[in-house]
Amino acid sequence: MKKRDFIKIGGLAAGAVMVGCKPSSADQAAGRSRAIKRRSGTLKLSYRPYELQLRHVFTVASSSRTTTPVVLTTIEYDGVTGFGEASMPPYLGESHESVLNFLSKVNLEQFSDPFLREDILAYIDGIMPGNYAAKASLDIALHDLTGKLLGQPWFRLWGLDPQKAPVTSFTIGIDTAEVVREKTLEAGDFRQLKIKMGRDNDREMIDVVRSVTDVPVFVDVNQGWKDREYALEMAHYLNERGALFIEQPMPKEQIDDIAWLTERSPLPIVADEALQTVEQLLGMKGVYNGINIKLMKCGGMDAAYKMITMARQMQMKVLIGCMTETSCAVSAAAQLSPLVDWADLDGNLLISNDIYDGMTVVDGKILLPDRPGIGIIEKKS
Ligand SMILES: [Mg+2]
Repeated sequence: MKKRDFIKIGGLAAGAVMVGCKPSSADQAAGRSRAIKRRSGTLKLSYRPYELQLRHVFTVASSSRTTTPVVLTTIEYDGVTGFGEASMPPYLGESHESVLNFLSKVNLEQFSDPFLREDILAYIDGIMPGNYAAKASLDIALHDLTGKLLGQPWFRLWGLDPQKAPVTSFTIGIDTAEVVREKTLEAGDFRQLKIKMGRDNDREMIDVVRSVTDVPVFVDVNQGWKDREYALEMAHYLNERGALFIEQPMPKEQIDDIAWLTERSPLPIVADEALQTVEQLLGMKGVYNGINIKLMKCGGMDAAYKMITMARQMQMKVLIGCMTETSCAVSAAAQLSPLVDWADLDGNLLISNDIYDGMTVVDGKILLPDRPGIGIIEKKS
């Protein structure tokens, strides 16, 4: 065989593996340039604790706070850096200490291919049970990294139309009538609001909001109602006042009461505290109409994508939510937002010391930046 023919056959075989057809000379040239640019190295993890300052005291049915601890992570590979974040509101039981402890056990240097995401995430998941915010910080950084290596945002890698990103709600915490009125007026740019309830002024909360605006509202009770008859009465009251759904009306343990309410309620009943992981989703059918997915609860973008897919098969509604977070974790969740019914992605707007620019809200709607990975850049200080 002449040397020239050998090269031709070799190139054809390689091309057949890649695309299943004879490559053009341009394809072959591109292949050579890909080979030259082929990256190498191992994954390097870095992290640091950070404290988010909230713009307002944040009050829900069970607690109030002015700060939220987070841990900021990076995964670096061959000069490219992916950003991640763990946010730890008190109710999920993670803290700076627990996340730093978890991350200290992670050895990503054993991996030399960041695209083996299934293997890397399975390794991370197997280090210790729980620790979902810590795991999410690694999942997000890995997604950001691989999206950047491919030069594409994740919404595009998933085949999603950014125009289908929904409007996001803005959250109004429980407060006095005067403050609720003020906050509602401040949120005039939003086309949906989320109202926290579950203390002793539920009717006042919605009535004050309605005295200012008629935009649709999500109601989040954070397990605050104990009595199902009262919950049903409130569901009718809220339905007549433009609410779209009620999130976690009663304690997650009151499964029979919640199923009873869901059967009778004129509004969809959505699980939040009751649902953390993809494994728990099957148990939600018949108890709730929908689920609130948050990256910090389920362990990141990979798990969230799987949960949305599964919830759709179960004909359940999907809300994508967040904690108080920087634009890092919020923009990661926003990549999935074209898939959901409702979005509550305002966590970055509730803090005064965000260090990233990412997803923005324009006329109430989520605007996904056309940047690779999760679409964030560090703010210039
Ligand atoms: Mg909630």
